[in-house]
Amino acid sequence: MTTIKNVLIVEDETAHFELIERGFEKRKDEFHLQRAACLAEALYIIETYPPDIIISDWKLPDGVGTSLIFKDSRNHLKIPIILMTSFGNESFAVEAIKLGVLDYVVKSPEILADLPHLIDRTMREYSLICERIEIEDKVNKLSIAVAQSSVIVVITDTNGIIEYVNPMFEKVTGYSSGFAIGKNTSILKSGYSSTELYKSLWGTIKSGEQWRGEFVNKKSDGSLYWEDSSISPVFDTAGNITNYLKIGEDISLKKRMELDLKTALGKAEESNRLKTSILANMNHELRTPLMGILGMSQLLTEELIEISHKDMVARIQSSGKRLMNTLNSILDLSELESDPSWIQFSEHPISSNLEYLLDEYKQSALEKGLFFNIEIIEKNLFGIIYEKFFNQAILNIVDNAVKYTVSGGITITVDKEMIQDALWGKIFIADTGIGIEENHLGLIFQEFRQVSEGFSRNYEGSGLGLSIAKKMIEVMNGQLNVDSDLGKGTTFTVWFPAALGNYGSDDQTIQLKSEEVKIIDAKANISYVNVCVLYVEDNIINQEVTKMFLKNTAEIDCAQSGTTAIKMAQKKKYSIILMDINLSASRDGIEISNEIRKLPGYKDTPIIATTGFASNADREKFKAHGLNGVLVKPFTKEDLIQTINDFH
Ligand code: ADP
Repeated sequence: MTTIKNVLIVEDETAHFELIERGFEKRKDEFHLQRAACLAEALYIIETYPPDIIISDWKLPDGVGTSLIFKDSRNHLKIPIILMTSFGNESFAVEAIKLGVLDYVVKSPEILADLPHLIDRTMREYSLICERIEIEDKVNKLSIAVAQSSVIVVITDTNGIIEYVNPMFEKVTGYSSGFAIGKNTSILKSGYSSTELYKSLWGTIKSGEQWRGEFVNKKSDGSLYWEDSSISPVFDTAGNITNYLKIGEDISLKKRMELDLKTALGKAEESNRLKTSILANMNHELRTPLMGILGMSQLLTEELIEISHKDMVARIQSSGKRLMNTLNSILDLSELESDPSWIQFSEHPISSNLEYLLDEYKQSALEKGLFFNIEIIEKNLFGIIYEKFFNQAILNIVDNAVKYTVSGGITITVDKEMIQDALWGKIFIADTGIGIEENHLGLIFQEFRQVSEGFSRNYEGSGLGLSIAKKMIEVMNGQLNVDSDLGKGTTFTVWFPAALGNYGSDDQTIQLKSEEVKIIDAKANISYVNVCVLYVEDNIINQEVTKMFLKNTAEIDCAQSGTTAIKMAQKKKYSIILMDINLSASRDGIEISNEIRKLPGYKDTPIIATTGFASNADREKFKAHGLNGVLVKPFTKEDLIQTINDFH
């Protein structure tokens, strides 16, 4: 089916128009003729019913036919136009064609009668022009995109001879396109990319596949850069490779950043290793003398008759304890900063635990003349917690409450709250102490930060307690909040995931768990007449302290080294062995324990690791080597008796 072409004839002379009209007689079905007798009429028709082609007389009553040449923004003729004149003039024809008309004819009866043919030819020409313009347009867009692209574009022939480079290539390599075109891509070779790389590249692209990889290339000034490239073959319609197209990106900055990151990571790992090793050393070096200070002074408190001396010894004790608390805090912090995924949560009763846990602080508060109340609103509350962290966090907060309160006292309330179907336990620790200024509230949870700092510092402390408490609570999926009124007091609220259980029949007689009973027994200093302890320890003071702790309680022999311990165990059967892990000899306590375990009669003898801070990983390691428990140094007399009691 042929579409009817809409032809506008602009002709003021009726006779001419009739002649033209007759020429279309035979092809009436293909053309629809419209006539305009002047320019104004033609413009109106073009506006209302745009024609496919215009055939216009040059001279019109109200102007010239060239006024009907319409072009778009790319200077492309919108409607094809043929101009007719009554005279033949070469220069006029050239002028008209320049202006954009597609053809120019001199009116003659023959020509006017044969316009359909002329239209056919002109329309074909016009459609070819349109097609070409469209292609040019596409090519134009593509080349602008390639030229403005932020990636390097190179087109080569099949031998790697450069045919095109974009401005980004010029910018990165420093080679102008004039220089690069006609050269082999090997001008970029730096010698730092392997021959295998180039082999794999050419093998891949010659086989028609795309290749991707990274090069170290050389710029025109000899400096190097990293390029991430993708090279693909370009095929002609017959499927033959005609060119190769390389799209590349300068990744030097990325590479440098990667390298910096790697170096930084290496340094961080190194400093972490160093930190761990410093901590381990510090741990051992501080705990050993602390054991002497605390143990000896504890023994002296029990034995001295002179009141004035007792006071001095009590001070040695409290200073030693303070030193130990700081050490413990630093180690807790480093443990918290390592991967906390090993932490396992279980349900623990809160109220009874709290009463026992805070007993010591209650005594200190009472000695300061403060009240110390524990109000249990929900006695059946169980915390889904890691008990060690939970207790430590509460202790840190209560320690502050007692420390920063001069008059009034401390109230601790245990309660629960349902929030969106989840049960939460909450413990309020409220004091009537010095309070904290509002703008300092954010600072108190930062490590080593205190409200009063510098030389004017009023209170002792490492500034670690609250940051550790907060971290511990958050590791247990809880939250620590603070609310304070300067000069009036502070309330810390500990939120933790909780459950309800039936714990004891009524609040007056909350039953203690078996471990708690044992602790109380230990405090009562029960005698173990038949217990014979072997203590493997290279530090004489620690040996002395431990011996004195067990005076009148149990028999104890000390071995200065692992080898001596093995010999002693061969000669005598001990009921429990306390094994120092960091023995200053070639074999550590774990190896000595393994040897002793093999001796006859020692298969099931409890061997307890006595060591400084034992991280969870350490405890697992001891367990895996068949040690039965851990007694952390420096231990008190009660700790020691409790451990013997537990394992004997
Ligand atoms: P510190 O060892 O100094 O007590 P913390 O991290 O436990 O370190 O506490 C940080 C700071 O927060 C303290 O130095 C103190 O200024 C302030 N702070 C903590 N608890 C209280 C409190 N209950 N009342 C007033 N100030 C407190």
